[in-house]
Amino acid sequence: MSANQTFVIVGGGLAGAKAAEALREEGFGGRVVLVGEEDVAPYERPPLSKDYLRGEAGRDAIWAQEEGWYDDHDVDLRTGTRAAELALGSSEVVLDGGGRIPFDRLLLATGSVAKRLPIPGADLDGVRLLRTVGDSDALREALQPGVRLVVIGAGWIGCEVAASAKQRGAEVTMVAPEDVPLERVLGPEVGAVYREVHASHGVELVLGTGVEAIEGDGRVTGVRTSRGRTLPADTVVVGVGAAPRLELAEAAGLDVKDGVLTDDRLRTSQPNVFAAGDIARAQHPLFGETVRVEHWGTALEQGPAAARNMLGRDIAYDRVPYFFSDQYEVGMEYAGHALSYDRVVFRGDPSTFEFMAFWMRGNRVAAGINVNVWDVNEQIQALVRSGATVDDEALSSDADLGSLVQ
Ligand SMILES: Cc1cc2nc3c(=O)[nH]c(=O)nc-3n(C[C@H](O)[C@H](O)[C@H](O)COP(=O)(O)OP(=O)(O)OC[C@H]3O[C@@H](n4cnc5c(N)ncnc54)[C@H](O)[C@@H]3O)c2cc1C
Repeated sequence: MSANQTFVIVGGGLAGAKAAEALREEGFGGRVVLVGEEDVAPYERPPLSKDYLRGEAGRDAIWAQEEGWYDDHDVDLRTGTRAAELALGSSEVVLDGGGRIPFDRLLLATGSVAKRLPIPGADLDGVRLLRTVGDSDALREALQPGVRLVVIGAGWIGCEVAASAKQRGAEVTMVAPEDVPLERVLGPEVGAVYREVHASHGVELVLGTGVEAIEGDGRVTGVRTSRGRTLPADTVVVGVGAAPRLELAEAAGLDVKDGVLTDDRLRTSQPNVFAAGDIARAQHPLFGETVRVEHWGTALEQGPAAARNMLGRDIAYDRVPYFFSDQYEVGMEYAGHALSYDRVVFRGDPSTFEFMAFWMRGNRVAAGINVNVWDVNEQIQALVRSGATVDDEALSSDADLGSLVQ
């Protein structure tokens, strides 16, 4: 690649920062511009609902790159700068305020935004979302001992915030329409384990119940459920999922369908434009369909993979989707892609919160989880990747997982 070329990355999150790193690691000697609308350098979001939220880790623990890295690697980091438009005809990124950056290759890594609830009271003071480091700072301030927190939503953010708030001494109620936490991703069987995890730590679970309104006069005082009950609240966290930030891609006419559609090289419908991280819905060679994964591991790996393909390396992105979560003393890792499955096979006793579980499609492992069991996730990934036929008995026994991969 010519040293006269300019590669622009729009989106200063983990995928963007890791893409810039890979460009330099691969020896790209041209100009790299990283455009991010937040006022701070790229950072990792997982701590924002965990140790950073609890005040146990500081900002120095969250940066995607060490201090000075961007200067040292001649990466033109533009924080506080929003890309307003992609002028694909002239291959330029148009910035808020009118500046234009011409590019030879463009990476879109604009991430996600936390969804809001379209109900009365959603704008009251004390009703919070959690996406940015500023959101986490403000929430930490609010989570004082004894404060009454209602978490709306029982997904990853809701569960992790509930756990961290409990650890900070708040009184926590979680309300959600699902019957068990994390039901959408983990299903009822493993979700039931997480119901016990939270119940055993004193979270009041109001499940199978929607939310009709947030009550208060200027400031929140409670959450009214669809069953007419009011849950008293000093603070409310709305954790009802995230939506990919597709506005630039859509306006530019890129192919978009719940994500920016890419091939397995992370190339969008425009040959010199790539996408990575939360916004990318990429063709996945293992699954034969497009997959969009809103998780740390994908941002970490897809940013560099896209960067290499921007340099013409022509490598398919085929990693097994992976994510992790920490709630109280219960840590887990998940690998796979199990939107549908026939049954769940457990290894170990879930009531001890130390077990593995496998989501089966026929005799194949579609996904697996390890909860407080460590150094096995790579073997689970290998099982998923191999498509090996495995019988339930072997999976639930203590047979070495590696020996089940054919
Ligand atoms: C609180 C929290 C906890 C999480 N915990 C976990 C976890 O435990 N495990 C896990 O696997 N995943 C976790 N995740 C998910 C993980 O953090 C995301 O998948 C990851 O951040 C995605 O990285 P990204 O670079 O694609 O997008 P983002 O991190 O969203 O970064 C995108 C950036 O682009 C910027 N941007 C958007 N539009 C523009 C524009 N037009 N111009 C300039 N800049 C723009 C945004 O402001 C943002 O800074 C968590 C997420 C949150 C919010």
